[in-house]
Amino acid sequence: MRSHAEAQVDLNAISENTAAFTRRVAPAAVMAVVKADGYGHGAVPAARAALAGGAAWLGVVHVREALELRDAGIDAPVLTMMAIGADDHTEAIRRDVDVSAGTAEMVRHLASRAKEAGKTARVHLKADTGMNRGGATPADWPSVVSAALAAESDGHLKVVGLWSHFASSDDPGNPSIASQISVFRSAADYAEKAGVTPEVRHLSNTAAAIDVPEARFDLVRVGGGVFGLSTLPGGAPGWLTPAMTLKARLIQVKRVPAGSGVSYNHRYYTPRETTLGLLPLGYADGVPRALTNTRFAFARGRRWPIAGTVCMDQLVIDFGDEPVEAGEEVVLFGPGADGEPTAQEWGETLDTISYEIVTGIGPRVPRSHS
Ligand SMILES: *Cc1c(COP(=O)(O)O)cnc(C)c1O
Repeated sequence: MRSHAEAQVDLNAISENTAAFTRRVAPAAVMAVVKADGYGHGAVPAARAALAGGAAWLGVVHVREALELRDAGIDAPVLTMMAIGADDHTEAIRRDVDVSAGTAEMVRHLASRAKEAGKTARVHLKADTGMNRGGATPADWPSVVSAALAAESDGHLKVVGLWSHFASSDDPGNPSIASQISVFRSAADYAEKAGVTPEVRHLSNTAAAIDVPEARFDLVRVGGGVFGLSTLPGGAPGWLTPAMTLKARLIQVKRVPAGSGVSYNHRYYTPRETTLGLLPLGYADGVPRALTNTRFAFARGRRWPIAGTVCMDQLVIDFGDEPVEAGEEVVLFGPGADGEPTAQEWGETLDTISYEIVTGIGPRVPRSHS
């Protein structure tokens, strides 16, 4: 670790996790979702590692995220999953970035941008099968399909994909899963009967790719799973390895008497004379203030209390009589193999999911890739 702190990213874990999905879902293919800077792991290195592990596609949300991959020389198929009219679709189409459309208006918009780019837009039509977020409802789907067919016959657009997204695939047995699959099948059948010839139909995210084999269709969109995470109860299965380790070095160590109040508002008092260590990570770096007085600091093979309030830039750890020294490494979360806390455990403690933890690690924390 060269810096005061770092988020260490295990690229081999990303490749292996992707390879594990690739084997598991075959003959369906894997789209590695590397939105939000690769869930905080670094979009470009994560994308390369996922491609090395057998991902055939990449997924992002914004056009700018797709162009970052293209700028890095990555020429694999990339889907931009959110349809935002104001995005630079001309540039996206020019650079062979696939785009999504869930309204007839967006289809026509993309066709006109394609005309401008002098290329055919590669479009994935998005059906809303019950999440009621983006995409066309069953009532609006025929208008989207007919707009797409019209643009195809004008030569401006090719429907590459038909897709949708689950609301509750991480809640095994939730009746909405079967219902969404059935609505998706109807939407795909309708489009294909109308003359659309998609290369890929895709519905599943990580949880569904693991838990709902009947929803794999031609392609699964795996984000968290690529990084060794899942939103299923209990987290990711054992065949996945979390790729990120958040660690820092103690920058100061001191001995204090029993009864010393520690950090803002003295929300912790030392139970006895003890050794406190100062770690240069705080809530601005993505260590939530709600981790005050938890035991999520790991050093010398065991866990230690975070003593008192997590500050913006730093936190204090109570090491008792352990002879720790300034410069020593402390792990806040990692894969869990040595007993260190995991992003999954952070999420459970904080009433959120591991994804929010890893995407929340701030830009001040350097990423290192190995
Ligand atoms: C983020 C996202 C995914 C990936 O979800 P994971 O649970 O991380 O696998 C898939 N599809 C869409 C539409 C997304 O926004």
